Amino acid sequence: MGTARTICPYCGVGCGIIVQDLGGTVRITPDPDHPINKGTLCVKGWKGMEFVTSPNRLTRPLLRTKSGFAPISWEEAIRIAAEELTRIRREYGADSVAFISSAKATNEENYLMQKLARAFGTNNVDHCARSCHSTTIEGLIRTLGAGAMTASIDDIDEADAAFIIGSNTTEQHPIIGARIIRNRARGLKLVVADPRGIKLATMADVWLRHRPGTDIALLNSLAHVVIEEGLFDKSMLDKVRGFEEYARVVEKYNPEKVADITGVAPEMVRRAAEIIAGGKLMMFYAMGITQHEHGTENVMAVADLALILGAVGRRGTGVAPLRGHSNVQGSSDMAALPDFLPGYVRVWDQGRAKFEEAWGFKISDKPGLYLTEMFKAGVSGKVKAFYIMGENPAITEACAADVPKALEETEFVIVQDLFMTETAKHATLILPAASFMEKEGTITNTERRIQLIRKAREPPGEAKPDWEIIVMLANALGLRGFDYGSPRDVMSEISRLVPQYAGVTYEALENYGLQWPVPSRGHPGTRRLYEGGFPRGMADLVPVEWTAPSEWVDNDYPFILTTGRSYYHWHSGVLTRESNILSREYPEPLIEINSDDAARLGIRSGELIRIEARQGAITAKAIVTDKVPRGVVFSTFHFVEAIVNNLVGVEHVDKYAKMPEYKVVPVKISKA
Ligand code: SF4
Repeated sequence: MGTARTICPYCGVGCGIIVQDLGGTVRITPDPDHPINKGTLCVKGWKGMEFVTSPNRLTRPLLRTKSGFAPISWEEAIRIAAEELTRIRREYGADSVAFISSAKATNEENYLMQKLARAFGTNNVDHCARSCHSTTIEGLIRTLGAGAMTASIDDIDEADAAFIIGSNTTEQHPIIGARIIRNRARGLKLVVADPRGIKLATMADVWLRHRPGTDIALLNSLAHVVIEEGLFDKSMLDKVRGFEEYARVVEKYNPEKVADITGVAPEMVRRAAEIIAGGKLMMFYAMGITQHEHGTENVMAVADLALILGAVGRRGTGVAPLRGHSNVQGSSDMAALPDFLPGYVRVWDQGRAKFEEAWGFKISDKPGLYLTEMFKAGVSGKVKAFYIMGENPAITEACAADVPKALEETEFVIVQDLFMTETAKHATLILPAASFMEKEGTITNTERRIQLIRKAREPPGEAKPDWEIIVMLANALGLRGFDYGSPRDVMSEISRLVPQYAGVTYEALENYGLQWPVPSRGHPGTRRLYEGGFPRGMADLVPVEWTAPSEWVDNDYPFILTTGRSYYHWHSGVLTRESNILSREYPEPLIEINSDDAARLGIRSGELIRIEARQGAITAKAIVTDKVPRGVVFSTFHFVEAIVNNLVGVEHVDKYAKMPEYKVVPVKISKA
């Protein structure tokens, strides 16, 4: 039993919590001195930790046999894993194995997972950022220079206005949502663009209720007004390239002309433009912008607008991509990605040589398989083995129905997790992992704050930290360079190779962490990016044109399904559904449908309805509500009882990041 000051494992806000291990239970209190949450928590932080002491935790390695899963020793498990992976590499080549890392795991664990994949001989490593902020990485690198939030959360307190597009902030990043609401009291202006009537939309000065999938048309129409009215920040003109071309493109997006596309009245766009151009602006976005077939272009349109409004690199301003997982920023920094090496070095760039020299092996200059390709490759026979750490793709990934098929058809599947997930059920070998309370390491939050997580209790049974399991497996595979004794050893190597983390030590993180870049030892961290200029000398305005998603509504599929999350649950629900209170508040899958549509179809709240897309169908209870507009239905992806991601295809993906279209899925609706 112990007590530790650590970080909430759920969203990317990175709130500080104090964990007290009471043996069979844990007590959570908010850390009163933490600079972000300052003694507060949302419901998941307070009531979402029962999973740690759940009797359903995995406690021993399990091997699939003809009669089910049988417990085996760690020695046997690691030996079997190493022998099978070695055999598969010998028979089919290293690219026949796919490694899936996790934004729930620490920086050190993500670094090790991608290094393991590369040492094994493949760039086939990816994780759930593919389905959330891979488009942020591509979009912000191409415009601003770095794929990260430019500001600090504290900048909200100095902003004059906030523009929130595609982020249900009070439900998904509640402590930031609460900060925005508090600042409304001192006069913060608020513009919200969202098809759903989320809480902040109902509190906004202007709510732009645009149609799903029309973000670029809306953002360009705002830019059109800003330029037409001369409201842009003239001082930015010598800091950006491409203004004339950008102005030429957005010139076409007169609000009167694009109202037919967006569904937003021109006068609302003009009012919103005046507000966001009226002073220091913070722009927030999340999955409503990123999870699209045109997600990278959406992100670039956000960054473009921020640049012409001077909303980058100054106090009280910023572009804030809000991260869904506690460590999706860090898992991306560590390059659990098929096309990057740690610190955002492209695998085909010369910077690869630094890693080859440090690690002592050659790295392919070809990107590996992306997460959106891996399971199709499993079904087609190209991938013969998976090593999946802390992810549940059978529920969370697009084309989720492919996941069980792929796992059953491949020759060897390792799943490393806390629970017998829907994905683990299809494994050959299951390895029990320690939770965030049972290990040490670092995670990096949405404002680039690298924070320590600390151990408060022992893992149950024989469960082990992910980093330790990876090291055991790497050594059993005979790979050199995995002689780490602790996460600190791993961070020491990271700090030598990743410039953004160069000055990071555990001692330096002791007092609530540091925001990257931390270029040297003793550096205080960086509250705001680009205050001293842009990494390429200037930022790039990259004009983008709106085009409809490849699959759009038609007579056969007349409704748009848009997917998302609930305040009470997280990801595949594996952790939050262990909580009695969270399950009581949101016990089952629900489908929101507009009251006019429901009346026309004779559907009442509580009735079972079926929504069917070209990919598949689900059945769940209807909630009749005007929170969703006519023609749109909304459902969450937390529930195995109705796997919404079975309806999301991977045929049409973002051309830069291979992100599927999660927010515009044409469906038909009927009573079940
Ligand atoms: Fe945890 Fe996010 Fe809630 Fe903070 S806002 S308590 S990090 S889920």
